[in-house]
Amino acid sequence: MRPLVATIDLAAIRRNYALAKLCAPGRKAFAVVKANAYGHGVREVVAALAREADGFAVASLEEAVEVRAVQAGARLLLLEGCFDAGELPLVSRLGLDVVVQDDRQAEALLTASIDRPVNVWLKLDSGMHRLGLTPAGVRHWFTRLRAAHQVAEVNLISHFACADERGHSLTDLQLERFLDLLDLDFDLRSLSNSAAVLTIPAAHMDWLRPGIMLYGATPFAELSAVELGLQPAMSLTAQVISVREVPAGDSVGYGAAWIAAGRARIGTVSCGYADGYPRHAPSGTPMVVRGRRLPLVGRVSMDMLTVDLTSLPEAQAGDSVELWGAQLPVDEVAHACGTIGYELLTKVTARVPRIYL
Ligand code: PLP
Repeated sequence: MRPLVATIDLAAIRRNYALAKLCAPGRKAFAVVKANAYGHGVREVVAALAREADGFAVASLEEAVEVRAVQAGARLLLLEGCFDAGELPLVSRLGLDVVVQDDRQAEALLTASIDRPVNVWLKLDSGMHRLGLTPAGVRHWFTRLRAAHQVAEVNLISHFACADERGHSLTDLQLERFLDLLDLDFDLRSLSNSAAVLTIPAAHMDWLRPGIMLYGATPFAELSAVELGLQPAMSLTAQVISVREVPAGDSVGYGAAWIAAGRARIGTVSCGYADGYPRHAPSGTPMVVRGRRLPLVGRVSMDMLTVDLTSLPEAQAGDSVELWGAQLPVDEVAHACGTIGYELLTKVTARVPRIYL
């Protein structure tokens, strides 16, 4: 087998979920498992959380069907609602909670022929301006949906744009706009993503929606996962498959983009951009060999990348290489690449086998 594997520590995910609940005693939490549980494998993650999770949240009906295949009973929220009115009968049959974020979705619900009423989460656009109703829209649909036979609970939901930047004024404004609607008698309220779970108790409401923190990565630029007490769930591990000496002045890899300043010892590693490692990762992006952080050099290829082993003469072909994981937070690799941990985790491709601890 090609030596590249994503090892997933399910116990870490359980502990991170428990930490989310600890941040907000008495509140419930949807474990956000969209995008294949942020790349960790949705079926395995849902099964691992089956006993502790109050509910799950996904981005589409297709993802909800996958969750239902392993979790018959739990509350399951469609975060973006239905993309088409034709989805509503299945939403009802699967017993999903559904977001209603615009007039079209609300009207579809009022004319839907469904056997079992659904729990609705009216989405307020509190300032992100991506999805959601105006406050007046929420008030309008609150009254109409309350009276509809297709609807069981009417709940309120919104999403922060900047909760990962502590003290951002938009977060205060979004919270204020959310609170302004609480004179309406919603059954339940939900506002907090991971960043808010961890740092904004006033936004905890009834149901949390932690995503990234479950997987042991940080939503913040200035607060690390370790500082937050999170445990990384995924280790992406490859192998040095070849080692060579490169004379000073010679280049390595496509485009001859990196040139050895002195005599260099270069290792070729079994992971490339077709596995989800970012092609734009610059030289210097760290990885771990024999417990030492060593720099990526040259361009990332489709199936391979290259590492400078010069400072570690004992390194040899067959050595294991941690691209991120227990020894190297994915957030650090993401930072070096000018992106966020979310992107690296969700982009690990299907050809990388997941092994579960
Ligand atoms: N709620 C909604 C509506 C989301 O779109 C997301 C993720 O993007 C989350 C919650 C979870 O956010 P995070 O992964 O930052 O905790």
